[in-house]
Amino acid sequence: MSQIFIPDARDFPAITDLLIVGGGVIGAATAFYAARAGLQTLVVEKRAALGELTTSASLAAFRAQFAEPENIALMKESIEVFENFCALTGVDIGIRQQGYLFVTTAPDGWEKSRARVEQQKSFGLEDIELLTGDEARARFSFLASAVTAATFRQRDGWLAAHELTYGYARASGARVFLETPVTAWRIEAGRVTGAVTPRGEIRAAHSVIAAGPFSGILAHRAGVVLPLANVRRQQVTLRAHPRIPRDAPMVVDADTGAHWRPEGAGAVLAWSRPEPPGEPLEYVPTDWDFPARVLDGVARVAPFWNEITPRLARADLARVAGQYTEAPDANPLIGATAVEGLWLNTAYGGHGVMMSAAGARLFVDVLLGKRVENPFPVNRDFAHGERMVL
Ligand SMILES: Cc1cc2nc3c(=O)[nH]c(=O)nc-3n(C[C@H](O)[C@H](O)[C@H](O)COP(=O)(O)OP(=O)(O)OC[C@H]3O[C@@H](n4cnc5c(N)ncnc54)[C@H](O)[C@@H]3O)c2cc1C
Repeated sequence: MSQIFIPDARDFPAITDLLIVGGGVIGAATAFYAARAGLQTLVVEKRAALGELTTSASLAAFRAQFAEPENIALMKESIEVFENFCALTGVDIGIRQQGYLFVTTAPDGWEKSRARVEQQKSFGLEDIELLTGDEARARFSFLASAVTAATFRQRDGWLAAHELTYGYARASGARVFLETPVTAWRIEAGRVTGAVTPRGEIRAAHSVIAAGPFSGILAHRAGVVLPLANVRRQQVTLRAHPRIPRDAPMVVDADTGAHWRPEGAGAVLAWSRPEPPGEPLEYVPTDWDFPARVLDGVARVAPFWNEITPRLARADLARVAGQYTEAPDANPLIGATAVEGLWLNTAYGGHGVMMSAAGARLFVDVLLGKRVENPFPVNRDFAHGERMVL
């Protein structure tokens, strides 16, 4: 019998060491590391499948090219897990290490890129290349003549988020209840001792919220206020086209944020404009003109897109949107809340796929009280916000 199933009355009341609420990539990764640490683990997901909400909207890209030492360290750890995922779990996650290329057309682009790379190297990211505009064009012939500098790291890339999520979940051996929404917490003597679902009760020594955009609502039901913002992000997938270089890296216009990467013989593209935060949504709408905007955006540093765009038909494109869930400092929330028994592993913004392995490993270390430096504790102060835990 599959361990990922829709439970019936015989499965309740369920009893577990760790209850994970949410079966996106973060909940699945948490199950993987918890089970490896010997914890009896149960994941509950309200939908009929894992990873259907934010995780399925992702470009599924990963990179270690960050500015902060803690992000660099955690991304390097995650990437090593992705590189060895098949050996660890038996699941092929379709990893493509075609690199991440950040390009700029700024007149002082070379100086700024050099300063950033020197800092990244001082934080332990040694295998990053700094390229002049000419060097970048020699390597990546699709780049515009206006490009003045670029940075490139070959070990960055992308993977299949569906396989990653199910790979974590299956390899964990944890029970996964589908179509089982948590509607309330069991609270005894001020402590969360499990959860209530329409199918029955779950008793758990510890419960962790990994519910993506719905994390704030769930925390609030236990009296914990999280200053989370849910912000819509869109992407567009293009069908195969002969002009799209299949061996290209993820290409990011560092001056505007427009980016794209090959997807088979096609591509996925994204470009976020600032949007107001909103309520968590089950289905996130897309703008009909988003493809036109993003195609315009990516053509600035890769002009071949201008040749593709005029001939595109509606059927060549698929639009998808999801919500970034972000704390005020744009870092995840990992650790204990002020309510005993209730934990968080959430708010990964635009980095949940790439940080899933290291973030979940860190969460389980914190849960088990191992002596770890947690760069993202739940109760940290925010520059422009209140303290979050009641
Ligand atoms: C357009 C776009 C592009 C992105 N690109 C990238 C990228 O290239 N690389 C990257 O690393 N990240 C990317 N991200 C971010 C990434 O997708 C997220 O950080 C990640 O998917 C978050 O995973 P999660 O498990 O926290 O949330 P989710 O995937 O949203 O999972 C939460 C789950 O909790 C369930 N749930 C909610 N409430 C309940 C309840 N009451 N009971 C039971 N279950 C519940 C939901 O149904 C859902 O399945 C992108 C995001 C978007 C929108």
